[in-house]
Amino acid sequence: MNVDNGFVLWLTGLSGAGKSTIANAVAPRLAERGHRVEVLDGDEVRTNLCQGLGFSREDRDTNIARIGYVAGKLAKHGVAVVVAAISPYREARDKVRASVDDFVEVHVAAPVTTCAERDVKGLYAKALAGEIKNFTGVSDPYEEPLEPEIALHTERESVEQSAEQVLAWLEARGLSLPAGEQLDLDAVPASR
Ligand code: ADP
Repeated sequence: MNVDNGFVLWLTGLSGAGKSTIANAVAPRLAERGHRVEVLDGDEVRTNLCQGLGFSREDRDTNIARIGYVAGKLAKHGVAVVVAAISPYREARDKVRASVDDFVEVHVAAPVTTCAERDVKGLYAKALAGEIKNFTGVSDPYEEPLEPEIALHTERESVEQSAEQVLAWLEARGLSLPAGEQLDLDAVPASR
């Protein structure tokens, strides 16, 4: 394994499930391990790359296709890309999967009741009061991954435990190694 192998770690789940939190916990640890890392966060991307897109199925699919396109390009150049996006439709996620070599789907799977209790951004209160249309998990569908590479149950795991599971999975698949265990190419004697 070498740290120039790119991959796309795709965090999908309801608003408030913990995608951004896990992305922000995993990204610095990947950097410590020598990876070049980029985080593409759905909320942030909607203010630039995907500005103007709404929350209809069509716009959500366009949003995911654009993020997937950029993620795939970066991964091809050896970047460890961490995407945090609700990405509610299975078909849109599977299209990205088909276009990326190392696609690691992570279902950040907290029940909607937990997400609504957390209500990190105050959006569930509004959605439940009928003030937001097309709110995933309340008034819009969320299609759970059928065979995600990793499933995290953030309602009963600490952030640390969830992040560790991701890193352990990447290690087990040879996509990452703990800091200090990377193959040091300079230490390999030149062949004669
Ligand atoms: P999302 O990006 O999915 O909308 P956020 O990361 O913004 O969600 O919010 C998730 C909330 O859940 C945070 O307040 C976070 O501290 C909390 N939380 C509790 N346990 C976990 C866990 N295991 N993983 C991630 N977040 C967790």
